[in-house]
Amino acid sequence: MANSLDTFAQSKLAELEAGHLRRRLAETLREDGIWVSRGGRRLLSFSCNDYLNLTHHPKVKAAAAEAVARYGAGAGASRLITGNHPLFAELEARLAQLKQAEAACVFGSGYLANAGIIPTLVGPDDLLLVDELAHACLWAGAQLSRGRVEKFRHNDVAHVRAVLAEQRAAHDHALIVTDGVFSMDGDLAPLDELAALAQEYEAWLMSDDAHGLGVLGGGRGSSFLSGKKSAVDLQMGTLSKAIGSYGGYLCASAPVIDLIKTRARTLVYSTGLPPASAAAALTALDIIEAEPELAASPVAKAQAFTRAANLPLAQSTIVPIVLGEATAALEASEMLACEGFLVMAIRPPTVPAGTARLRLAFTAGHPDEEIARLAQIVRERLPGRQAR
Ligand SMILES: *Cc1c(COP(=O)(O)O)cnc(C)c1O
Repeated sequence: MANSLDTFAQSKLAELEAGHLRRRLAETLREDGIWVSRGGRRLLSFSCNDYLNLTHHPKVKAAAAEAVARYGAGAGASRLITGNHPLFAELEARLAQLKQAEAACVFGSGYLANAGIIPTLVGPDDLLLVDELAHACLWAGAQLSRGRVEKFRHNDVAHVRAVLAEQRAAHDHALIVTDGVFSMDGDLAPLDELAALAQEYEAWLMSDDAHGLGVLGGGRGSSFLSGKKSAVDLQMGTLSKAIGSYGGYLCASAPVIDLIKTRARTLVYSTGLPPASAAAALTALDIIEAEPELAASPVAKAQAFTRAANLPLAQSTIVPIVLGEATAALEASEMLACEGFLVMAIRPPTVPAGTARLRLAFTAGHPDEEIARLAQIVRERLPGRQAR
């Protein structure tokens, strides 16, 4: 007889299956930065966040391999015990310099960074204002903080102002939290306007730049779009996307970073990043700094695609094609796979109900003629589709 735990799991799965929301892991072999094999098919991937194809860059791979040979496969302990490899200080200095911040802290992943940073800075007497489309791990951090969490309408600065006007005075501190580049929509946060509001209401501003580092603002990220740094107090991001490695980071003032290193639970109670991930990230940063045309290339490719497909001009490497129901997104994804393209369907709860979509991520290595062919298929076979 099935026990109640199995019964629970089975009924939950049946419910998700009925709503076309059950997910399955597909084994995928990434051959290089763009081609993948899965399910017996070789596909050109528009679903990797490896925007500069650095996961497979010979110098990045060599740096990781050499670090494994010299330092071993893992960090061995939390950074506060014995896991603080000397490469981390070098990586943090490089990140702080790139982001024009006083200091930086590297975490095991971007998710761990957000789950650690927010509860360290915000507590039960504080106010959090979070964009409704902010990444799931920012919401996780917000919930762990036990502060008062207010969701604001996507990129709606007037709504942020209204919430601050009404609630700021009743709280000790206030933190505004947003993605710099929205991961499923590819649009950009109004960082300068949010920074001005933060200053006016004595609030702090945090931006998650997972999809900006390496590809926007000359490689410095979305806080540098205007050429000079937006007043973002907490610049968080990941080493797992354009950097092609693994790990998360925060760049901020020296006292804030000292506090994070003393108190962030996902740093204190989690094993340090493998040294090889830091070595790979350092080499990737060298490449990005040495080759500014490389950093500009993925957004240029995304824009070439949106022009050819009659979609609104891409603002980042990410282009959504919103189709509505989960089934429509799954069918469109399969249609593109038959044409040789891997474009994953994104369904709720990753995106709001009724906005299931294809999400395309453009990388430096995508051949222009394949981008043109994909645009033609989208124009002819997914007509009338508007990006958000
Ligand atoms: C991917 C992503 C993260 C998580 O980063 P990892 O290093 O993969 O854990 C955080 N925020 C945003 C916006 C992301 O897209």
